[in-house]
Amino acid sequence: MTPSVPATTSTPTSVRPLLDVRRIYLEPAAAALPRGQQVLQRWPEAELVEVASHWQIPELHGDQANVDRWVRIKTEALVLGVKKSLSARPNGRSADFIAPSTANGCAMACAYCYVPRRKGYSNPVTTFANIEQISGYLSRHIARQGPKPEPNQCDPEAWVYDIGENSDCSVDALVCDNVADLVALFRERPSAKASFATKYVNRDLLDWDPRGRTRIRFSLMPPAMAKLTDVRTSPVAERIAAIDDFVAAGYEVHVNFSPVIVTDGWLDQWSDLLSELHDGIGAAARRQLAAEVIFLTHNEQLHEVNLGWHPRAEEVLWRPDLQEPKRSQNGATNVRYRSGAKRRYVDELEGLIRRQLPSCRIRYAF
Ligand code: SF4
Repeated sequence: MTPSVPATTSTPTSVRPLLDVRRIYLEPAAAALPRGQQVLQRWPEAELVEVASHWQIPELHGDQANVDRWVRIKTEALVLGVKKSLSARPNGRSADFIAPSTANGCAMACAYCYVPRRKGYSNPVTTFANIEQISGYLSRHIARQGPKPEPNQCDPEAWVYDIGENSDCSVDALVCDNVADLVALFRERPSAKASFATKYVNRDLLDWDPRGRTRIRFSLMPPAMAKLTDVRTSPVAERIAAIDDFVAAGYEVHVNFSPVIVTDGWLDQWSDLLSELHDGIGAAARRQLAAEVIFLTHNEQLHEVNLGWHPRAEEVLWRPDLQEPKRSQNGATNVRYRSGAKRRYVDELEGLIRRQLPSCRIRYAF
């Protein structure tokens, strides 16, 4: 019997605000920069703790057993650092390049999130204060590419840079102006486009005048599943309701159908979600809509940690009866849906999208 998702679920979601910063861990070099000063002035009452490196703060990142404190740490702690190595990594799937991060970590707590994989599992937001260096690097990288020679799945015309690989930019924008600065940078770059996925509706972004050079990808999944697994995020209905407003404000808005989690009745739930999306957006949004479809991958270490704080999510995420191991690039063992069955799941969901949202281009599905 496949576990199904109950219509109403209780999660460890807290009603606390996403950020209520009480303690800022800072590298002195970051605090000396104007962007560092902006962050410190935003929370003048916060206790300041000097650290040698944003990578090594054991009380934040090392104690995986202390899962009860996760949400509190995500709410109350912030790290201010300097991004040392700058590179734009070729990608070719969602974006042409992964831009150097202006932040990592997240105040939200999705049970399947891979973002904490390098620092450890509470992983609150780290903001990088050397935005001028990062912007300068990006500008030079964009200039070196010249015009895009031919269309690809990332974009027909522009070089696409993912600016949110290790964080959620809509939340980062609550901390400082790093994301606003990048949106302003891409506004003036006709050969390039910024892109980020988000599960948080931050309406401050509506005032940023992106002029079509920033793509926001609202991540969507059936609401009952999101309620179970997308801890601390904006409700799915709120994300859908924001799409028209972001299109009107000058963003290109796409959707990420991700992660797709297979349970009893999953296709029916996706069909309901697609109807809600179709009915919830206007003609302008529908014309420019495209989707990425990404099925769940999970990993044993995260599964073990999650059992300590959110075992109900693991009932749908950890499914040895449906999944098989897959060795990832960094040597960790992940699991994904078994390949033959997965091909069928992908085909079924793609068919549903084509029928229910015929104008929505599927940029890729895997
Ligand atoms: S919103 Fe994104 S980065 Fe934040 S916890 Fe969820 S999956 Fe991770």
